[in-house]
Formats: sequence, structure tokens, C-alpha cells
Amino acid sequence: MRYVFDFDEPTDGGRELLGGKGVGLAEMTRMGVPVPAGFTITTDACRAFLASRDLPDGLEAEVDEHIRRLEERTGKRFGSPDDPLLVSVRSGAAVSMPGMMDTILNVGLNDEAVQGLARKTGDESFANDCYRRLIQMYGETVDGVPHDRFSADDDVERARAAYTAATGDEFPQDVRDQLRRAILAVFESWSSPRAQVYRRAHEIPDDLGTAVNVVQMVFGNKGDRSGTGVAFTRDPSTGEQGLYGEFLANAQGEDVVAGIRTPQPLRVMRESLPNAFDQLVETMRRLEEHYRDVQDIEFTVDDEQLYLLQTRSAKRTAAAALKAAASMADEGLITREEAVARIDPAQLDQLLHPMIDPAAELEVAAKGLNASPGAASGGIVFDADTAVERAKAGPVVLVRYETTPDDIHGMIAAQGVLTVHGGMTSHAAVVARGMGKPCVAGCEELALEGTTARLGGHELHEGDVITIDGGTGRVFVGEVPLVPPQINEDFETILAWADDIRRLKVRANADNPADARRAREFGAQGIGLCRTEHMFFGDERLPVMQEMILADGERGRRAALDRLLPFQQSDFEGIFEAMAGLPVTIRLLDPPLHEFLPAEGEVTDARLRKRIRALHEANPMLGTRGCRLGLQFPEIYEMQIRAIARAALAVQERTGDAPCVEVMHPLVGFREELARLRDLTESVWAEEAPDLEHLVGTMIEVPRAALRADEIAEVADFFSFGTNDLTQTTLAFSRDDAEGKFLTHYLSHGVIERNPFETLDIDGVGDLMRIAVERGRATKPDLKLGICGEHGGDAQSIAFCDELGLDYVSCSPFRVPLARLASAQAALRETAVPA
Ligand code: ADP
Ligand code: MG
Ligand code: MG
Repeated sequence: MRYVFDFDEPTDGGRELLGGKGVGLAEMTRMGVPVPAGFTITTDACRAFLASRDLPDGLEAEVDEHIRRLEERTGKRFGSPDDPLLVSVRSGAAVSMPGMMDTILNVGLNDEAVQGLARKTGDESFANDCYRRLIQMYGETVDGVPHDRFSADDDVERARAAYTAATGDEFPQDVRDQLRRAILAVFESWSSPRAQVYRRAHEIPDDLGTAVNVVQMVFGNKGDRSGTGVAFTRDPSTGEQGLYGEFLANAQGEDVVAGIRTPQPLRVMRESLPNAFDQLVETMRRLEEHYRDVQDIEFTVDDEQLYLLQTRSAKRTAAAALKAAASMADEGLITREEAVARIDPAQLDQLLHPMIDPAAELEVAAKGLNASPGAASGGIVFDADTAVERAKAGPVVLVRYETTPDDIHGMIAAQGVLTVHGGMTSHAAVVARGMGKPCVAGCEELALEGTTARLGGHELHEGDVITIDGGTGRVFVGEVPLVPPQINEDFETILAWADDIRRLKVRANADNPADARRAREFGAQGIGLCRTEHMFFGDERLPVMQEMILADGERGRRAALDRLLPFQQSDFEGIFEAMAGLPVTIRLLDPPLHEFLPAEGEVTDARLRKRIRALHEANPMLGTRGCRLGLQFPEIYEMQIRAIARAALAVQERTGDAPCVEVMHPLVGFREELARLRDLTESVWAEEAPDLEHLVGTMIEVPRAALRADEIAEVADFFSFGTNDLTQTTLAFSRDDAEGKFLTHYLSHGVIERNPFETLDIDGVGDLMRIAVERGRATKPDLKLGICGEHGGDAQSIAFCDELGLDYVSCSPFRVPLARLASAQAALRETAVPA
């Protein structure tokens, strides 16, 4: 097996084999973009190393051979005392993990070679600067010398002394040995704790491994006509067009992110290095056009000569992703379908969370950079370990001078991140954007001393609450009022395009007029699940409900129900009006009755206690609930149906439009259950609103219903998959007992890959759904089909529903935009598959 490929060699290996960085370098080389020469060692080699803890056979010989080619090409020799070839040894996995793994620069210097480099360049201090950097990076990365043993102010002698003091060895003079150990260290960094934490947070498999790129060094640290920088082809925070980046003169790559010196905005390069700047602008334009996506690049200017060292699709905020996609489609760079396909539905979540009320008059304690949008409140913590600890008790905001890859677990635990130092491309900013977490960076007005923070005249200690607004860079002391999010223009544009593409309809789960209105604003095309249980709560209603439950016979129950009816009717009227013209599926009472009663221990009245005890069930989830309740106490459902019919009639009389009502019976397993409840529904309806159309249907949420769907369809106008219960009943998982207990174990030990309550268990629960669809439609081809479990708002589950041919998905109002997008993407994927 071959393990090594030059950047300019044709290969059929993609990013799985060569890593994202390697693929990017090879592609740029092919495009004729200026990239230093080099080669990539494949992830196959890394996986072999991870399995055996040793370099695979033949790898070293291959590396030697490629170094030889590099020597030929550059006219320099590796380890030469006259004109040494220096290389960087860089990690680069298939999936971008910014800063999580290691890279070593200037490999190939030793005591003799450094003199050769000095002579060759006529710049001794530059040569020494390179050697000092190598000793430090190599020491930290290969030998694990703690970062604080070195300083950027060290000279070669001091760096060497610190290296020897920490390792007990002289700095290695054999350059091949340097290279070999650097490669091993980069492979090893795949398994570092921080890389593992990052992979877990981003659901990246542990067994991919990293590639290694060996790249001829180019030097940004040769004086004022050199430098290094990072840039985005569009603003990664807002998506606005135009170059966006930072530049440091006379520096090597690491300095920009390390925050030792504050980088300058890219435009300063226009004055100091006009030619390199123009070339950079042109190259970035070409890269964006080639990749047809926003690029995030690294570059170095070596004595006015520009080199590109990395390009990748930029991690960006949801807002930026939307703006970039919408404008790229308008510019004709990509099609509307591509624009829609490109937005990650999960990322939209960022925009659909509450934000700081723009109208509120607030005292701003300090301002920093708006590095990653969204609002976050929480107690402040000053280090990552404390963040993890304290986050168990409540939300925290991680406050650091700056973050490093070692803070990753704290960033995951925190609601948001605030840093004193660093720009829009700092570690904190990049990682927060990738995680969709609010971040305010470079807040220079914040002063940190141990576990005290000084912020605009306030002295704060660990646990004190602050709020950050990553969209504006503002920082507040205490909590701040939040408002629901709004959908901006770019979002509207993309969603409108998505609406043109999708086949599935999207409804919302809502059980009050306010939610119904919000759902409509977000584009819901009806209500897929209106739960009625909350209509029995509230100060005026609950006592009546309890009276009903406690009544000795039907007479007593009916008397109480008569008093509940007007409440329900007015609730339904509000919902019908909010959803005028769109279907509303109302589910009749579902939970067991004891949920409406106080706990036995809280009650003194003997009769009440007795009744509560009588209603006690060992397993209420499998007990007297849903249609079982409706069949045992028909007067309850009768009242609800009456309230629905009267509300529909009243709204029709008031507005002239008849609501599209769908009455849904929960927990049906037998045809006979639904047949009887259908009769009940029809007879009440005939009494109340004989001229109004309506549908009667059922949830499919127990396996028997799915299996006997052919019979059940005989008496149903529609099915709605209640996949929360269907998952519980199919897997025999009680959700409350599963999540946080054995399910966590299953997930962390890889017994199953995903939480089936979040993403549909397609193989199991999904198969039952498929059976139900086939059998139901065999009986009734126009049977209306939908899903109303939480999976209706999960992108992957939505794709499955599209494939099944459901008519609609229904999800919480805030997820409606996501579902619109995910439905469109599902439709696009289906048309993309060759017939
Ligand atoms: P990371 O994945 O942490 O960004 P990289 O491998 O990209 O690590 O390298 C770290 C820094 O060193 C980057 O700024 C990069 O541009 C710079 N760098 C890497 N290789 C070279 C090289 N051959 N010449 C000059 N700079 C380099
Ligand atoms: Mg990089
Ligand atoms: Mg249910």
C-alpha cells in the first residue's frame, strides 16, 4: 500500500484519505495557486499507527523518497549545512478540527543548518528565530514540554537550555530523526484529550485518523516585507461580501492565532505590500469561484512573494451562511437549489433562539467584538474545568483572557464565551462559531485578576451572572430580557426557495393561539398536533377537572364537564382563528387522570386520598390513558368533541370561513377502539354542526396500530405518527428512565449510535411506519399521513418521512423553518438519486 502522495500527483483519494488540508493543498497546486511544494502522508498510515503504535512498514522509505524529490525541486538539501530545506509537519483530518491537533514548523534545522540558513539569507537573526521556534514547538509537541517553560522572548540558547532542562536531552541534531518523531507526534495528537472532546462534541468518529502534510517552509518572519495572515472571502459573522482577515508583519503562522502580538486588519497590507495584496485578492476570488463557497484561508508573504498554505470552506454563523448562500445564488455563482442544499438545518437553531430585546434600554457594561451571535446568560467561570463543574448546576459563561484548544471542554459546557483578547479569527471566535455558541471576543475593557473580573466599574467573582450578546459584542451585568427571534431577509429568501422545492407540508405543534400565530409567522401550514390536556389546567379549571375525576358517577362527571366545556370552546376558537384557512388537528385527552390530581402525600381529605390511591397505576404510560380513557368515560371525549364543533361553528359564523378540523384519537391499537370513537365523534358532530366538514383520525403510536393499519384505515381519514410514544412502545424504553441513564451508557459505549428520541430509529420504528403507510394506503389510497412526534423537527427524520411519502411533518413552532429547509433538502436528494 502507498502512503505518500505529492501535492501535484494525481490521486483518486479524497479527504477521507488525504485530509481536508491535504486535498486543499493538492487542489490549489493543480489550479496554479502559489503553494509551497510538499506531500501528504495518508490517513491509512495514521490508522495503521493507531492500531500498532508504530509507523507502518515502508512508510519511512516512502517519506525519504519524497523528501528527495522535494530536494530536487527546491535545490535545497534536508539538513544541509549550506542551504537547508526546512519543512512544516502539519496535521489535517478529513473533518476540520481547528487547532485541535499539532503542527511543527521549521523542521530540518540543527546547529549547523541554522548557520547555513543565516549565510544563505544573510540574516542571522531570522535564522535564529526559526531555530528557536523549532526547538520550542518540537519540545512542546514531540516531547510534551509544558508551554510555560518557553517564552517567545527566548533566544536559541535559552530555548535549548529549557529544552534540555525539561527533557534531560540535547535538542536532536539528526534531521531525519526530527522528521520521523514529528510525524509520530502529529499522528499521536489525533488521540489527545482535547481532540477527543472536540470529536465527541461534533459527532466525529474516533477512528478516522489524521493525515500529515509535509510542506516546504516559506517565511513570514523575514522582516517587514514578509508576514502571515488568515482571511475569509466573506465576513464569517454576517456573510457580507468582501475580504475579511488579519495580518501580522514579520511573523510565522502560529503567531496570528497564538495572540502574542495583535494582528492588524488585512487592509494594512494594501499599503505595505501592494503587490502581494492584489495577488491575494485575486487568488481569493478564484478560490471562491472554484469552490463556489466561502473560503477560509491561511497565507504567508515571504519577501513580497505570496503563498497559500490552506483553504477550507469557512465555518460561519447561520446568518452568514444564509447571506452567503443567498447572495452567491443572486450572483449566479451557485443555483438556488445549491443555496438551499448548502444550509445546515441544525445550524439554523442559532437564529431561532431568543435574543436580547433590541428595544430594551440596557446598561452596557463593556463592548467587545461580535464574534459569534446569540445571547447567553450565566454565572461567570474563569477556567474550563470549573465551567464543566459549575455547568452541572446551571448555565455558565466562560470568561478567559483568550482561549486555547485546551479550553474546548469548557467551551462546550458553557452557554457562551467572553475573551479579553483576540480578534474575529481568534480561537474563541472560530470555535464558538463552529459550535453555534454566542461569543464576544477581544473585550479589552474587561480586566481579569485571578478569579476577579473588573468590567465597567463592576467587580465580579466566580458565579456572578453576566449576559453577552455575540451579535453586537455587548456585555451586561446580570440577566437581560430576551425576545423571540425574527427571520431576516436572507432567511426568508432561502426559505422561499426551499418552499418551491419541497413536497412535504410543514405544520406545527401548538395548543394556544399565541403559539399558533408564531408558527404561522414561521411558515407553518397548519397545526399537526393540538394537545388538549393543558386546557384542563389553570386556576379556574383544575378544581372543576378534579371534581369531574372524583365524581361518583356519570351524572357528577357530566355536571363538571358541562362547566369545562365553555373554557375549551373558547380555547379552540382562538386557535381556529389564528390558523384560519389551515387544517388544525386536535388530539383528545391523552394523559392518565392522576396527572390532574395532587400527590397522595399532599392531601389530607380522606375521600380524595382514597380516590388518588384507586387511580394509582404501576405503569401509567401503559395504563388508563388515551382512547382507553375515552372509551371508559365517553362523556369526557363527548364534551371535547362538542366544544370543538361549537367552536368551529362560532368561528365560521364570525369570520365566514369554516375551520378545517381534524379530530384525532390517541393511543389506538385496535380497529374497534377507533370505530367506536368515530361513531361517538360523528354523532356529537351531527348534533352540533351537521353542515361543517371535518375529519376523524388516529395517532399511530403503538406497534399494533402500525401492524393493523389496513383495518384501522377503514375507520380513519388520517394517521398521524406519534413517534415519541411509538419509539417508547417499540423499544420498550421509557424515555424518562432511558435518557440520563442506560441510554447515556449505550450512546457513550457505542451500543447504539443516536438517541432514538431525537433522531428516528429508522431501522426499527421507521420500519413500523413503513408498514403502516403501506397497509393504510392499501385500504385507503388517499389516507392523509403525517408525523407529530418531536422527530418532525429533526432533519434526518424529516428526510425519512419524505421518502415514506407522508403528506406533512409537524414540529414545534421554532423548528418550522428548519423543517421547511430540511424538507426541501430531502426532496433535492431524492431527485439527485439516479433512477
Ligand atoms: P492548524 O491546523 O492548527 O491551522 P497548520 O498546519 O495549518 O495548523 O499550521 C499552523 C500555522 O503554520 C498556520 O498559520 C500555517 O499557515 C503555518 N504554516 C504551516 N506550514 C507552513 C509552511 N510550510 N510555511 C509557512 N507557514 C506554515
Ligand atoms: Mg491551519
Ligand atoms: Mg402519545
